[in-house]
Amino acid sequence: MQQEAFIRLEGVEKEFRTAAGSFMALKGIDISIRRGEYIGILGASGSGKSTLLTMMTGIDRPSAGEIHIGGEALHNMKEGQLAAWRGRSVGIVFQFFQLMPTLSALENVMLPMDFLGKIPLAQRRKRALLLLERFGISDQAAKLPSAMSGGQQQRAAIARALANDPELLVADEPTGNLDSTTADSIFTAFKQLSNEGKTILLVTHERSVGSLVQRKLILVDGRLAEDSAKVQAGGFVA
Ligand code: ADP
Ligand code: MG
Repeated sequence: MQQEAFIRLEGVEKEFRTAAGSFMALKGIDISIRRGEYIGILGASGSGKSTLLTMMTGIDRPSAGEIHIGGEALHNMKEGQLAAWRGRSVGIVFQFFQLMPTLSALENVMLPMDFLGKIPLAQRRKRALLLLERFGISDQAAKLPSAMSGGQQQRAAIARALANDPELLVADEPTGNLDSTTADSIFTAFKQLSNEGKTILLVTHERSVGSLVQRKLILVDGRLAEDSAKVQAGGFVA
């Protein structure tokens, strides 16, 4: 059964112009992703993984090509429209957590709810607590990030990314600063989220994630060198 794509990239290119000249960071990227897929994006440092995520989160715009997500044409949106779309549609998890240092874990999770205003005021604290609980750190709710371990901070950051219940969760090397046991528990948490229907884009260096994600995209020098879904469709994988 053919399902309508949730994310569709067509001929996406990204050119950076610098004093040293122009550099093509993404070249002719075509990808189609269904709702609820758990995608691992792999590739060497400098291959374009982060740049691809900035295109799919509307943080930056492609130099050419089209990006459609959830029926919206991101490549046609103005800066302000992109920011609004991102706020209601995407949760982002970073390598260095990027929690607000002066806010407690609980307040960090409530902050995006306050920004967007979708979750009613009276429900925000309870929702934030439930999210912390879901990731096993409700006992850390009152702590500042500096008093939490790296793994606890990243769990709080994932809870924050889910604050407004976005359809799309994007993580750029979220376990780059964590030990491998903590990393595995975070990859497993993403798997559960994808089972619940969230679409997950995970950039990682960790080869071990290959067995957890449903589908791998491998970038080489700004090109999509491999898409495991296409390999399977072509019958190359048993
Ligand atoms: P990855 O995340 O796979 O390590 P990036 O997407 O960060 O790779 O970068 C891909 C390439 O694009 C690199 O060669 C990088 O130097 C270049 N690049 C990324 N961002 C910029 C920028 N803002 N200006 C110029 N070059 C950039
Ligand atoms: Mg990167």
